[in-house]
Amino acid sequence: MAARATATVLAGARVVLPTGTVENGRVIVEGTRIAGAAAADTPVTDLSGHWLVPGFVDIHNHGGGGASFTSGTADEVLKGVETHRRHGTTTLVASTVTGEMDFLAHRAGFLSELVEQGDLAGIHFEGPFISPCRKGAHSESLLRDPDPAEVRKLLDAARGTAKMVTLATELPGGIDSVRLLAEHGVIAAIGHTDATYEQTAEAIDAGATVATHLFNAMPALGHRAPGPIAALLEDERVTVELINDGVHLHRAALELAFNAAGAGRVAFITDAMDAAGFGDGRYQLGPLAVEVKDGVARLVEGDSIAGSTLTLDTAFRRAVTVDRLPVGDVVRAISANPAKLLGAWDRIGSLEPGKDADLVVLDEDFRLKGVMRQGSWVVDPQA
Ligand SMILES: [Zn+2]
Repeated sequence: MAARATATVLAGARVVLPTGTVENGRVIVEGTRIAGAAAADTPVTDLSGHWLVPGFVDIHNHGGGGASFTSGTADEVLKGVETHRRHGTTTLVASTVTGEMDFLAHRAGFLSELVEQGDLAGIHFEGPFISPCRKGAHSESLLRDPDPAEVRKLLDAARGTAKMVTLATELPGGIDSVRLLAEHGVIAAIGHTDATYEQTAEAIDAGATVATHLFNAMPALGHRAPGPIAALLEDERVTVELINDGVHLHRAALELAFNAAGAGRVAFITDAMDAAGFGDGRYQLGPLAVEVKDGVARLVEGDSIAGSTLTLDTAFRRAVTVDRLPVGDVVRAISANPAKLLGAWDRIGSLEPGKDADLVVLDEDFRLKGVMRQGSWVVDPQA
């Protein structure tokens, strides 16, 4: 009877399904799940004039709400998760930045408890196995070549909750590390890399399946030396992450990626740091000082872009209103594709019966009006 008490029919919205958009659609929520049919007396929530889309899935996110996933306490991490949740991200993988190996292993154990509690969907290690040539906002003195034994140490410390490791696969030990990750069902992501086209293709053949923020922290696309970008875009086994904040990428680069890879192989991420959903000021990204001004995060020393202050509702709205992408394609990039990457498509990523009732309500201008996670309103559209 408890599930019955929380049943509701969300009616009247434009509902975006994998098969297309349904005008004046109905989504039935019963308990924590989407149901196939409703009893006659189930209460109706009127969402006419709104869009109803699946909850957003962010596979690359370092923090928010003033909190860092690399260094925050449990309460702070949860505050960061809650901040992104209020912006539509119902599934979030916490990313760490480069640190000492012992620190990262310890951190993995700490974050794994939050994964087991269901607050996080997994852990993403960005660094230390990345290229000093493309270090971005990672501490150079702590970078190291990928070593399968050390990768293994992080996976063990994460106790099965590691979902992705970003590697510069051209470094010594890179290809062996990709193989190890693939064997363990962990995503090997190519990023912060100085690889050639050929070296990138070799890593994909070894099992790498994701491009960490395509275009950023890798050699530019050249017509004689196409580099990693061409290799990652052309291979059907790869999904490319894009940071759609209007800072990391030109609109034309985003369009190029969608046209080359197709909407089924793009994943919108935030790569957010502490200032997301919080405000300008001084922050720490791991050991490095960051200044956030007008929502743009840069290292105090060196001026490199240091993550974003993006939330996925803003990425969604920008994709539709500025980039002019079809809503269905945006939903694939922001919910369905990352859900599939996480191996969670049976549970999340679309509004289909049997899946978790994770959904986002947007008004006709694509502003966020409601967020439901596992059947409970995080942001109530009628409040
Ligand atoms: Zn990142």
